Amino acid sequence: MATTKKRELDLKDFPPGTVTEYTTLVCLACIFDIFTKQLGLAPRTAFSEVKRHAPAIEELTSRQAMRHYFDSDEKSPHCPYCGSAKRWLARFDTYCIEGSKTTDAARRALIKKLPKADDQFLVIEKKSDSRAVFFDWLDTLGRNLDLNDESWLLDATRMYLERRERKTNWDEVFEDLRAVRRSSRLTEGWERDGGRLFLAPQLYSEALLIQYLISRSHAHGGLTLEGRLTLMDMIRRLRYSGYIDQLGITEREPGEVFEKLIDHLASTHEWSGYGTASGSDRGTAGSKREKKKKAIKKTAKKSSKSRKGKSVPPEPESAVTESVKLHYVVDRRDFLEKVKSVYASYAA
Ligand SMILES: [Zn+2]
Repeated sequence: MATTKKRELDLKDFPPGTVTEYTTLVCLACIFDIFTKQLGLAPRTAFSEVKRHAPAIEELTSRQAMRHYFDSDEKSPHCPYCGSAKRWLARFDTYCIEGSKTTDAARRALIKKLPKADDQFLVIEKKSDSRAVFFDWLDTLGRNLDLNDESWLLDATRMYLERRERKTNWDEVFEDLRAVRRSSRLTEGWERDGGRLFLAPQLYSEALLIQYLISRSHAHGGLTLEGRLTLMDMIRRLRYSGYIDQLGITEREPGEVFEKLIDHLASTHEWSGYGTASGSDRGTAGSKREKKKKAIKKTAKKSSKSRKGKSVPPEPESAVTESVKLHYVVDRRDFLEKVKSVYASYAA
């Protein structure tokens, strides 16, 4: 039994925050029942049908379990539908890799190394967009943080910075860190001073926004490094700090401003089109938007990522939402083994 246990994929070449892992269990007793009882197939036929089973991505990654699929943190889980014990339960591990220049090489190398026989792994591509990816990222982040322990504010800040500036070793920057503050000196980037990390105002504003977004459903308003803020508080603060003007957001209505802020956070994670952003004139077609000031700068000092010829930054008028390709790698190894052993006991 030892060999079937820990067989995690090696993901160390992927920048933090670019791979999301999902684990889902499926009950083979339930599945075999469908094939043998409902569809009247002989066990042998059922076996070969089940073996081919390629679950849909939604079934593997949905936060709400779908029929026959379920999540369990228990050591000895049971099927919630028929009560079957562990040996009937097969596990799918699904890795969702965000397609981008920073993950392409690592992804190709990973996929190349995967065993090919018997479809032990499936690789599935799906189109998504920056906004959906951003909310998934936020959702995963929220689930992994303990919002009752205040240190989550620092963790959330670190994860945001990791997402935004992938080349910096943030673990090192955050080691023994006690506080994160707004810098009154820096205009971009960050600096560590003793136990404190100072962020340029724009970065700091974004950290607050992320904290707000993570915690706003947890309680009234959202919890941030500056205390609990309602949406109005948040926007007032960002306006006062100059952040909203810096992004060229001209809307006044808080809900609209908020939407623009989210577009900005979501679309700039690669920072390749950074500096042009926020332009979609939804609903106000035709109204020419003044060119964004160059005020928006790149952040961390080490990032000297020069724009490569082909990725021309979008025109201010073009849609904000960028399309993103998601690459799902589904590990079917446990499933195939369990199907085999379950069949053996069926046929006996
Ligand atoms: Zn079951």
